Amino acid sequence: MSAHNIRLAGIAVSRGIVIGRALALARAPLQVEHHIIPGAQVPAELERLQRGFDLAIGELRRVQQGLADEAAYADLHTLLDAHAMLLEDEALQQGAAHYVRERHYNAEWALMEQLAELSRDFDAMDDSYLRERKADLEQLVARVLQCMRLAPGVAPPPMTVLPSGADASLDVTSLPPRPRDALPQIVVAHDLAPADMLHFRRGMFAGFVTDAGSKASHTAIVARSLDIPAVVGMKDASARIAHNDLLIVHADAGLVILNPDEATLQTYRGLQAQMLQARQRQQRLRYTPAITRDGCQIELLANVELPADCEAAVAAGAVGVGLFRSEFLFLGRHDSLPGEEEQYRAYRAAIQAMQGLPVTIRTIDIGADKLLEVCGHALPSQEQSALGLRAIRWSLANPELFRTQLRALLRAAVHGPLNILFPMLSQMGEVRQTLELLEQAREELRARNVEFGPVRLGAMVEVPAAALMLRQFLPHFDFISIGSNDLAQYTLAVDRAQASVAHLFDATHPAVLHLIANVIAQCKAEGKSVCLCGEIAGDPHITHLLLGLGLQSFSMNPAQLLAVKERILQADTGVLAPWAQQVLELEDTQAALEPSG
Ligand code: PEP
Ligand code: MG
Repeated sequence: MSAHNIRLAGIAVSRGIVIGRALALARAPLQVEHHIIPGAQVPAELERLQRGFDLAIGELRRVQQGLADEAAYADLHTLLDAHAMLLEDEALQQGAAHYVRERHYNAEWALMEQLAELSRDFDAMDDSYLRERKADLEQLVARVLQCMRLAPGVAPPPMTVLPSGADASLDVTSLPPRPRDALPQIVVAHDLAPADMLHFRRGMFAGFVTDAGSKASHTAIVARSLDIPAVVGMKDASARIAHNDLLIVHADAGLVILNPDEATLQTYRGLQAQMLQARQRQQRLRYTPAITRDGCQIELLANVELPADCEAAVAAGAVGVGLFRSEFLFLGRHDSLPGEEEQYRAYRAAIQAMQGLPVTIRTIDIGADKLLEVCGHALPSQEQSALGLRAIRWSLANPELFRTQLRALLRAAVHGPLNILFPMLSQMGEVRQTLELLEQAREELRARNVEFGPVRLGAMVEVPAAALMLRQFLPHFDFISIGSNDLAQYTLAVDRAQASVAHLFDATHPAVLHLIANVIAQCKAEGKSVCLCGEIAGDPHITHLLLGLGLQSFSMNPAQLLAVKERILQADTGVLAPWAQQVLELEDTQAALEPSG
């Protein structure tokens, strides 16, 4: 009997809970035969190669033209177009033909050789978006290989790796039959093509789980825009999950529970029903201003990791971005770090996506659990500590790279309201050095005659030292942002990434709350704006406590925004303020998170 409640973690790319049966898709590696063909066969082989391309491109264009003219299909339309263009590329077609003509490789081998060559070019690209297109190209080449093997005159099967009834391109008859429990199907695969999302649109599958993928992968982008529960980047999930296994996909948490027992199923069914109801209720609040019952206006901002996330921020009704974690542009890079131009384009994209709403971009917060992989920038393992060379410390130790980021930010500020936020400051010396480097970055742009815009400057309070010496920090900054995740980690001496002490991590610990309360009060007294951007800002159970402590600006994952807004609309700060003061005096605040009145 298999174990129950196996928890598999991945990357959350969308929201919702789905309980269903795994539809496990076998991984289809690109394996081809290699042989040298006789010279006389070259023209026929070239023809076969070309037919493969023509059929694959024709199919893509047909699917694209057949898409309904709906806003929900807009992303997919663009993707299909980009894919057709990848296949139409001369470098791919001519390169493969060259191997057939000159070296007499069979068409499949020739195509794979050219793919390997282009893959190397993709790997060397500076732009992470373009580098990710390598996976798309591999999927497209697999499609050309499939089409190439068809006899002349035979139409290709529908363009998908997913089974769709009679059109199945995957032989589902070889899979064990589905249990008769009518549960929805959850696709489990190594990776999925964006075109497969069409099946989700038609409601054939209720969610998906993939080994590969990232927040920026096309499949994730489409999953978000179609609002499908999905978890990607699960590494070996497709090897661990068998066809027909019972699964719970909790997309918001990036969590999959394999073989849940009855009690867990009940819990998640309850959660699912609550989520559905809450979502329907909350959707109506999108355009409602976040004002408490006693008339206090609250600012709800979004946390984003990539410019593409801004779309979700706007859709949720955020009035700006409160935290853009810029290090995500640097993570997962193997060859080189993004330069000034690439960063400038990413920051500009975020600013433009927010359509005039303010965007707060935090300078790189690298170190601890977020490590660079580029040669020459990787930290030795003994240095990979939350107490080590992290965030602003890393930036100040790498002034060239820091100034590059600052120049990119200053240039992006031409395109809309931009705030620059500095992470993990703990000493006045760091504040002074940071401001000096910012001034140098401006000088460098002036010397190059490059236009730059005005910026507001913010300090993150995420180390107790910063909270305790805020008075000295404040004159140098326009605003403060409380990073409650790290403030809890450093106040409680609990490594937030370590499972063994996870039970001790509590951002509502009385000591942390005291620091938060003092920071809010001091900022108010000095007339500086203060936001909280740690995870508790997006937890609706904590909204009233934070309001009671005087917080008026929250920054969170866009998926949480309407749930928090709902709590704000129910609140009366006149009642919450004295209650929050009482909570501060408790030994255990967890038990008292909801006010009685
Ligand atoms: C925090 O520490 O609360 C924060 C928002 O920053 P991060 O989670 O990126 O460390
Ligand atoms: Mg932090």
